[in-house]
Amino acid sequence: PVVLGIESSCDETGVALVRGTTLLGDSLASSVDEHVRFGGVVPEVASRAHLEAIIPTIERACDDAGLTLADVDAVAVTAGPGLAGALMVGVSAAKAVAWALDKPLYGVNHLCAHVCADVLDHGPLPEPTMALLVSGGHTDLLIVRDIASDVTSLGRTIDDAAGEAYDKVARVLGVPYPGGPHLDRLAQQGDPTAIRFPRGLTSARDMEKHRFDFSFSGLKTAVVRWVQERERDGLDVPLADVAASFSAAVADVLTRKAIDACEHHGIKDLQIGGGVTANTQLRTMAEERCAAAGISLRVPRIRLCTDNGAMVAALGAQVVARGLTPSSLDLGTDSSLPVSTVSV
Ligand code: ATP
Ligand code: MG
Ligand code: FE
Repeated sequence: PVVLGIESSCDETGVALVRGTTLLGDSLASSVDEHVRFGGVVPEVASRAHLEAIIPTIERACDDAGLTLADVDAVAVTAGPGLAGALMVGVSAAKAVAWALDKPLYGVNHLCAHVCADVLDHGPLPEPTMALLVSGGHTDLLIVRDIASDVTSLGRTIDDAAGEAYDKVARVLGVPYPGGPHLDRLAQQGDPTAIRFPRGLTSARDMEKHRFDFSFSGLKTAVVRWVQERERDGLDVPLADVAASFSAAVADVLTRKAIDACEHHGIKDLQIGGGVTANTQLRTMAEERCAAAGISLRVPRIRLCTDNGAMVAALGAQVVARGLTPSSLDLGTDSSLPVSTVSV
C-alpha cells in the first residue's frame, strides 16, 4: 500500500509518499526564515505558514513520486507531540484527504517517526533496537521492540533537550537561530579538547539514580560562565573552540550513555534519530565508539534526521503493515503525546 504522510508539529511542513520502506517522493516547506528575527519558533507564525504551505506541499510530494492522490491507500499524520496549532493544520489536512479518498487515517507519534525514518535508508529495524532520540524538544533512550506498537522509554533528559542546549548556547555566542547547524559549522574550525566542559549525570553518584538519563542545563550554564569570565577579563572568546568543546561534551555523554544502555540490556543495534543527529561530531563519535564496542549503528541521511514528512509516512506504513486499527475521523492533537503511544 502507498501511504501519504503529513508532518506539521513545529516549523516544517513535510509531506511524503512511502510504500513499505521505500520513499516514493517527498516535499518539504519550512517557515524557519520567518522565525529568525524572533530567535525561536513563534507558534502563531508557524501555524499560519503551515496553512499556506500544506496544499502545495501535498501536490509537490505527489508530483515528486509521479503519483496522484488517487494512488494513496492510507494517510498518516503527526498527532503529537508538538505545537498545538501547528499540529492541527496537518491533522485537519490529513482528515480531509482521508475522508475525500475514503481511505484509512492513522495519527502517529512524531518521536517514533523520527526513529522510524531510519527504515527508509536501512530497511526494517532489528528487534529489539536501542534508539537514541535527540531533537529540539526531546532527548530519550528508547527500547524499540516493535516500532509500530512497542516503544518504551529507558531514560530522558531531566532538564534541557540536547537541541535546546545547542540553540541556547548559540544565542549566548551570538550565533544566529537555528543554533544547531551554525554551531556545528563553527565547531569544525575549533579544537574539541580546548575546554573541558562538564558531562551531566556521569558521576558515580548520579549514575546510581540516573544512569540512562541526561542533563544539559549545567553544561549550558558552564559555557555561559566561561564566556562571561573571558569577556570580563578583556580576553577574546575563541568561538570555534567553545563550539567544538561544547559539541564534544554533548556528543560524549550521548554516545557513552547510549552504548552503556545497549550493553546493559544486551542489545546489539543502536539507532540514532532526531534533528541533533545531523551533528558532525555526534555522527563521528557514534561511529567510532559503536565500532569499538561491537554495536551496529544506524544513522539515516541528514535530511531524514530533521523534521520531514517521509518519517511520518514510514511509520504509517509500519502501522498499516501490522493491521492496526485506524484512527477515527474525530482524531485530535496531543501536544504532549508520550513516546510510548506510537499511534492513536
Ligand atoms: P521534537 O522532535 O522534539 O518535537 P523538533 O522537531 O523541533 O523537536 P528536530 O527538528 O528533530 O526537533 O530537531 C531540531 C533541533 O536539532 C534544533 O534544536 C536544532 O538546533 C538541532 N540541530 C539541527 N542540526 C544540528 C546540527 N548539525 N548540530 C546540532 N544540532 C542540530
Ligand atoms: Mg525545524
Ligand atoms: Fe522533530
